[in-house]
Amino acid sequence: MQVLKFGGSSVANATNISRVLDIVTAAAGKDRVILVLSAISGCTDSLLAISSGPGDPDGRLEMAAPLLERHKDIITRLFTGKERDEAMDQCKSIFESMVHSPAEEIVTFGELLSSSIVARKLACDRIETLWLDSRKLIIKGDKDQTYKNISDAIEANPGGRVFVAPGFIASDANGRPTTLGRGGSDYSAAIYAAGAKADTLEIWTDVPGMMTANPKTVPLARTIPLMSYGAALDMATHGAKVLYAPTVKPAMDAGLPINIRNTFNPSDPGTIISSPETSGSNGWTGVTSTDSPQKEETLIYLINDTPINPEASCDRVTDCLRKAGIEPLEVTSSDTDVCASIRTAVANAALQAIHREFFETVPLSETLVFIAGFGSVAKAFIQLLGENAAAAQRNGKALRIIGLGNSHRYIIDKEGISPQEAAQKLESGVYYSGNKYIDAILECAPRRSIFIDLTDSEDIHRSFTRLLRAGINIVTSNRRSIAVPFVEFAAMKAAARENGAFIRYETTVGSALPVLGSISLSANSGDEILSIEAVVSCTLNQIFSSYDLFPGTFADIVRKAQEDGLTEKDPRIDLAGTDALRKLLIISREAGIPLEERDVEIRPVIGMDTPLDRLYPTLEAMEPQFAAAEREADKTLSHQRFVATLRKDPASPNGYKASVRTRLVDQKHPAYWLKGTENALIIRSAFHPYPLLIQGPGEGAQQAAGSVLNDVLR
Ligand code: ASP
Repeated sequence: MQVLKFGGSSVANATNISRVLDIVTAAAGKDRVILVLSAISGCTDSLLAISSGPGDPDGRLEMAAPLLERHKDIITRLFTGKERDEAMDQCKSIFESMVHSPAEEIVTFGELLSSSIVARKLACDRIETLWLDSRKLIIKGDKDQTYKNISDAIEANPGGRVFVAPGFIASDANGRPTTLGRGGSDYSAAIYAAGAKADTLEIWTDVPGMMTANPKTVPLARTIPLMSYGAALDMATHGAKVLYAPTVKPAMDAGLPINIRNTFNPSDPGTIISSPETSGSNGWTGVTSTDSPQKEETLIYLINDTPINPEASCDRVTDCLRKAGIEPLEVTSSDTDVCASIRTAVANAALQAIHREFFETVPLSETLVFIAGFGSVAKAFIQLLGENAAAAQRNGKALRIIGLGNSHRYIIDKEGISPQEAAQKLESGVYYSGNKYIDAILECAPRRSIFIDLTDSEDIHRSFTRLLRAGINIVTSNRRSIAVPFVEFAAMKAAARENGAFIRYETTVGSALPVLGSISLSANSGDEILSIEAVVSCTLNQIFSSYDLFPGTFADIVRKAQEDGLTEKDPRIDLAGTDALRKLLIISREAGIPLEERDVEIRPVIGMDTPLDRLYPTLEAMEPQFAAAEREADKTLSHQRFVATLRKDPASPNGYKASVRTRLVDQKHPAYWLKGTENALIIRSAFHPYPLLIQGPGEGAQQAAGSVLNDVLR
């Protein structure tokens, strides 16, 4: 058995009734149907007006004239000949009874009219049709008797294919006609479905199902495909007009899903309301509202299918309202919903703001990325992409890895390389040398793709200009790519500018610390940088602070750092200050100073001219020197730090003097307090009386990966 209920607008006129008949006939082809009908739209309101109008039958009939005309018009259009006459007679006699009824019963006649017309039409169309008198079957307050009456009526008519029943009406315990409350035909349908042990319950209406908000107020409201009984009850109780709240319980008790469908678009699947286990839905369901006109207040309910985090949910609602310039009067929560009390004057704006925040996902833009490098930072980055997919999507950005290459293999897959299969895919990639990976990228990458350099290659930057000219953006964590001669750096920047692409490299100094952004912001705002002291060599910080704290020679400490993977593959690059020098070049250029390597005075711990195989013997031989410097530091209550410095100096060619060397810093200097691999930048500028200090962890694959992702998504 199927129960189909059609609301007032679905039977408002002959055209709409024809649609209903088509839907019902198709359903009856599959299984028996109980068809529950509302009164034609506006009828119940008119009947209520009549019931509180003149008490005499003539006066009532006069008032009912327009309503009678509407019914007569429907009959004229649906029937011909003898059938039309009979339908007219029946209609007039129902009106006759109505005007002679006690005032409180007048409202029950609307459904009698609509259901008798439709039942007659179905019978005329040769469908085995039976009209059921809901006033006899549905006894208000007596569920068991009601269900028994319904099942007996069905059983007594085994030949019936379609049973047509007026919705909304019932009788009270004394047998007098009564109603199930405004909008009660939905409830009638659920009662019929439970009583007849139906397999389906469909509520046909004039909207495409239960929606995330009232579409009249929130144009971007959309249909909720699946939801739980609980959420449906919550929405119906708190203002969603599409379903009469009491309907939910009988269906839920019978374990029967409620399907809300659109009469005017019958192929639309609408909304299915069922138990949480089968509804498969969870999360925010919709937003509804109820007004309390006396207080000029509107309560807005944001409803979830599952238990919510009350505080976080209330905060999110409050925040989004404030962003829309609305101050809620109060925001409270229950287990599964948030209720915001709003001044009615701004209720529509509030509904729109809440809907925007919770239901209107930012349109997703997908960015294609090509990764170069498959070392620790690249692996951490790829893993992060896998973990952050959901977060990125929330911000409207999805990243798809299209290319991946290391120094000898690359793979390009336009379908995308999932983070989980990256290693395996790379393994099966093309073996290559030279620029083949870059050539392959240039062949297929659309503008605005991102090339991500996570290598420590000395010469990958030579391809940057070509990529930028093709409109491909670049993000790099490789400082060798940026600390190139200034003309090359300037050419890259110009290629980016001229081709509407970007090149970002925040990770190259201080890893995840927001160093370059801060410097370029000061420079952009016209602030004049007086000096930058950068303690940015994690390796040398670790070495100097360990030498100070632990026993052992300087050589021992370097050896330990190398064993721990803290140094470059060639530790001389750290000890010679090359790493710190590169960072200083990048920092200076960010401040608008075209610093070149030759402008920097470098005092290495040990020079690159020391042969690599002589490194440790040379360090051992220098121990007295290191020990003496450390004693000097102790005597002056200072620490040794390896500092890259840029200082305003009108006498120097660029207006700045730059150096990279070991210095003694006392307790007044922030670098004194650095531990291990921490970095610090101390920036003094003309605008600010106190220096800007940026301090924190300066290394780590995870941190670098996070910083690269920020550059990608920024
Ligand atoms: N006709 C009734 C009303 O307008 C019941 C219904 O349509 O559900 O309230």
